[in-house]
Amino acid sequence: MTELQSRGLQLTAPDAGAASRRGGAGPSDHKAVTIDGHTIMVPVHTAGASKSRFRASAPDPSGASELLLDGTAVASVRFPRQPRFYALQTFDGVPYHHIATLHGADVLATTVLQTCIRYASRRQACQFCAIGQSLAAGRTIARKTPDQLAEVARAAVLLDGVKHMVLTTGTPNLTDRGAQVLCESAFAIKAAVDLPLQGQCEPPDDDRWLQRMQAAGIDTLGMHLEAVTPEVRARIMPGKATVPITRYLEAFEAAVAVFGRGQVSTYILAGMGDTAAAILEMCERLVKIGVYPFVVPFVPISGTPLESHPAPEPDFMQSVLRPLAVLLRRGGLRSSDMKAGCGKCGACSSLSAYES
Ligand code: SF4
Repeated sequence: MTELQSRGLQLTAPDAGAASRRGGAGPSDHKAVTIDGHTIMVPVHTAGASKSRFRASAPDPSGASELLLDGTAVASVRFPRQPRFYALQTFDGVPYHHIATLHGADVLATTVLQTCIRYASRRQACQFCAIGQSLAAGRTIARKTPDQLAEVARAAVLLDGVKHMVLTTGTPNLTDRGAQVLCESAFAIKAAVDLPLQGQCEPPDDDRWLQRMQAAGIDTLGMHLEAVTPEVRARIMPGKATVPITRYLEAFEAAVAVFGRGQVSTYILAGMGDTAAAILEMCERLVKIGVYPFVVPFVPISGTPLESHPAPEPDFMQSVLRPLAVLLRRGGLRSSDMKAGCGKCGACSSLSAYES
């Protein structure tokens, strides 16, 4: 799984299963693939994927595909089916899949605000991010209203049995940094359906937002460091790096006091320049605080400034994920104990497979 996520996958039948993710916030250009009961997101639209040694055959009538490595079958894989809620549209005429999409096997995910103050300027934008691409391509809308999110979440639970939901957002301002829009959204969703929610934003300027988010119905919180050393952060994400790591660490401690140990997480993108030792050192600090470090392989998304940056080698990922699983075990943190969110879904990394 680690190798597949690093190298990507060629598809004989690109339309099999649920549609792949192209553009959008966070990791993208993936398709969900189920191997050995684990659903992981595998790059299929990146330059590396088009040259990958892995290929999936067209699914047989039962939905199983052969995973071929240099033409030799090495595993049987499946593609989660297209969810039923994708066929519907809101009362005001917006396709449901423009509001939220299925991630992994059973996660509903949305980017509440598809715009970001940092994305507008290439000198400020995170160089790995494609938040504006899906908007420009007409595959989503700029602002999902609380009513739209509630309507889609309810349908996704009833029709497709989704188990939890991720609400991420572009950063709208330098004060609450997205916390307010997450509060409004969570409140409306929880009024419509009982669905565990993860909110994801930059650390707000005032820790009282953490309690407000929890009171609004957010069960777990993600605040994403992305890179762990100041030099790499300044180079890859010049705008976001103006919120220093020290502020993240303060906010993590405050958030664990509100949401609980193991219910706060952070994305760390391995392969952007941080060494394995630096990533593991940061992970050790985070685990001590009670924060789940969700380390994922960096995916060079087409159309971003980093589209030609290589994905991390599988050996590099193993050198991080294997010891990280030991750190997590020692710290008593487990993906499966999270109530909601990326750490629980786990599809963008093979970390949870190392845990188990
Ligand atoms: S880990 Fe997060 S971003 Fe990745 S597929 Fe799961 S919910 Fe989506």
